[in-house]
Amino acid sequence: MSDGSADRQRLRALPKAEIHVHLEGCFSRPQIVALAAAAGEPLSRPPEALFDFKNLAEFLGFLDWSCGLVRTIPQVELMAYAFAERLAENGAGYADAIINPTHWPSWRYRLPEMIEALDRGFRAAEQDGLPPVGLCLSLLRQQSADEAVELLDMMIALRSPRVVALSIDGNEASAGRTGPRFADTFRRAAAAGFRRTAHAGESSGPEGIRDAIRLLGAERIDHGVRAVEDASLMDELRDLGLPLDITPASNVRLGLYPSYEEHPVERLRRHGIPVSISTDDPELLETTLIGEYARMVETFGWDDEVLRSVARTSIEVSFAPPEIKRDLLAKLAAW
Ligand SMILES: [Zn+2]
Repeated sequence: MSDGSADRQRLRALPKAEIHVHLEGCFSRPQIVALAAAAGEPLSRPPEALFDFKNLAEFLGFLDWSCGLVRTIPQVELMAYAFAERLAENGAGYADAIINPTHWPSWRYRLPEMIEALDRGFRAAEQDGLPPVGLCLSLLRQQSADEAVELLDMMIALRSPRVVALSIDGNEASAGRTGPRFADTFRRAAAAGFRRTAHAGESSGPEGIRDAIRLLGAERIDHGVRAVEDASLMDELRDLGLPLDITPASNVRLGLYPSYEEHPVERLRRHGIPVSISTDDPELLETTLIGEYARMVETFGWDDEVLRSVARTSIEVSFAPPEIKRDLLAKLAAW
């Protein structure tokens, strides 16, 4: 490959889904500056240094601040629409978008209103030909069992077709082992027909991934990269066909691995574990989905066959409705 822009056009045309991406991490610098101005809040740093994070804790602190700036229904609708635009720009045909209510203090007592506003924004985007989006409502590892019950009860009462899954995220290094606390809620979510995805194997090691599988019944692991530290767990993931939703730029940027060369995505993939590529928090991490794929091509020499198989995984393991999966897989076969 020689012409960079031609390569990017091909990667854009590659039919794929993005399945590990947080709405919290999708505000652009200009969006944040505008939201802060509308809220009458000063920026914590100059705009050009807004996204200079030293570690995961600082990064999560910034998330809380920037999401706290979103206070009106039109702002939420616009955010959903802009999210779908970003997908289209990157040639993604569908996304499972994660949203964690704990980051949105203005919506603490009116979460259904927020979800309905997101739904309207996504619907408007679809009507304009932009890709469809499913919502994964996420618990924070630091929350209590009662708070988890409260979120799931709300999901069940709301019965919004937009909400496809229960998720869990947050810093497991500071929260400690929390799988047992949330096991019941995840079991109930499954019984109520919700899909399950869990962050693990990033700020936790292999034991966090085991808990996500055994205690939370996770159908996918967001990150999961630290499975590479445990050969028997790698075998288990391969044998179960349990997919890892991997976000290389996030792991390198937040210091989990010193470089892309040392990122374990390729070792996990070659072991036979289903892997997909996503951006995690694209704006805050200053990356794009096409950029992530391009980086894998550069770093690991992924050829068309590998690209097709990773893209196929992203579609197959997504929580998209069957007809969307069929359509994307047919387009993928023709790529
Ligand atoms: Zn994530």
